Amino acid sequence: MKKVDKELMKLTNKKSIIKCFMTKKVLSKTDIMEETALSSAALSYLIPELEEEEWIIEVGVGAFSGGRRPVMYSLNAQKGYMLSVQVSTKGILIGLIDLGCQLIEAKTVIGLMNDEESFIKIIEEGIEILKKNYMALFEKIIAVNISIPGVIDERSGLVIHSAHFRFYNFDMKALFNRLLGKKVEVFTFKDTDALLLGEYYFIHESTPNMAYILCDRGVGLSLLILGELFRTLQVGLELGHMTIDPNGPVCHCGRRGCIGAMVSELPAIKHYVEIREQHGMYIEDLGTLSFGDIIKQYSHDECAKEVIDKQVDLLSEVIANMINLFNIKKVIIGGPLTLLGATIESRLENAVRRKVLVCFREGIQIRRSELDMHAAILGMAKDVLLHQIGDLKHL
Ligand SMILES: [Zn+2]
Repeated sequence: MKKVDKELMKLTNKKSIIKCFMTKKVLSKTDIMEETALSSAALSYLIPELEEEEWIIEVGVGAFSGGRRPVMYSLNAQKGYMLSVQVSTKGILIGLIDLGCQLIEAKTVIGLMNDEESFIKIIEEGIEILKKNYMALFEKIIAVNISIPGVIDERSGLVIHSAHFRFYNFDMKALFNRLLGKKVEVFTFKDTDALLLGEYYFIHESTPNMAYILCDRGVGLSLLILGELFRTLQVGLELGHMTIDPNGPVCHCGRRGCIGAMVSELPAIKHYVEIREQHGMYIEDLGTLSFGDIIKQYSHDECAKEVIDKQVDLLSEVIANMINLFNIKKVIIGGPLTLLGATIESRLENAVRRKVLVCFREGIQIRRSELDMHAAILGMAKDVLLHQIGDLKHL
């Protein structure tokens, strides 16, 4: 075998050993042998090399099972770090996370972001804030995970299109390589992917098949199938542009009656104002009225109730269509509708059960999102550690 092939094989074997520690925290040499199918002879030199390189550390001895007690190893979580960034239209949440998926620190940076320049400025500000306290750890950053609303090509990390930020083929990888001053892996997720991963890893880990629908300023969908994000080339799943009424209002995509143009903040406000005016009731602070404000009035304002009931009914049509396509049993709803508490779950569950195919009806659960504020950045980090660490070029 050529020297270069030998070196490549050694590196591949080392990565497969590191990968074992992502699912099991503490392992003996025998455990690693079972997990990787590498020979005892190979592990006899690979394990000391990984210790030398500070990838793994000895953490004591295991239980007695005849013979010598085995040496136990764990990953050295401080060997490398990741930056995880959750982008919303109002700002970012940026966190520094170690390889054991522990959050070192996270900061929120609020600011106007509506084009490339303003977006980059906020990202730079977030990096500078964390760098101030953790300069030494920044030297060890090996990957960046970022979620953003839009159409993403996860293979290239390009944001193909993001309407709010006016991005067309925006190169996230090039941006972070420049801002960090070195080559790192960059994993780009769409906003609902990160929220779904947060739900999966921190709340619903026993549910490997589920959907996350965000209903806020538009409608977004992400799917998890067998514990992995469902992705196609240049990811689609643009649920917001599914037509539910061919005679409905015009959507910014040019078609009529898209769900995003009928169920989200703007159509809710429009409908609310119309009904109020019909009753001779005018709104003083129209400029600050939000989707959440209307939802909060649900139980004591007939107009708000009518608007939200209509929105929930339309949303149930879309969820039923989605269940008929993918036979997903659990659907998580995110966004201001969660302010309705358990009511949103029972209302949608009852409506969806009536609308889906009889054979898919059993066991449908609609749940509201109850994520901790750091769950999405940690969810992305955990997903990358579990599924991508073997492919990280910088290991
Ligand atoms: Zn549309």
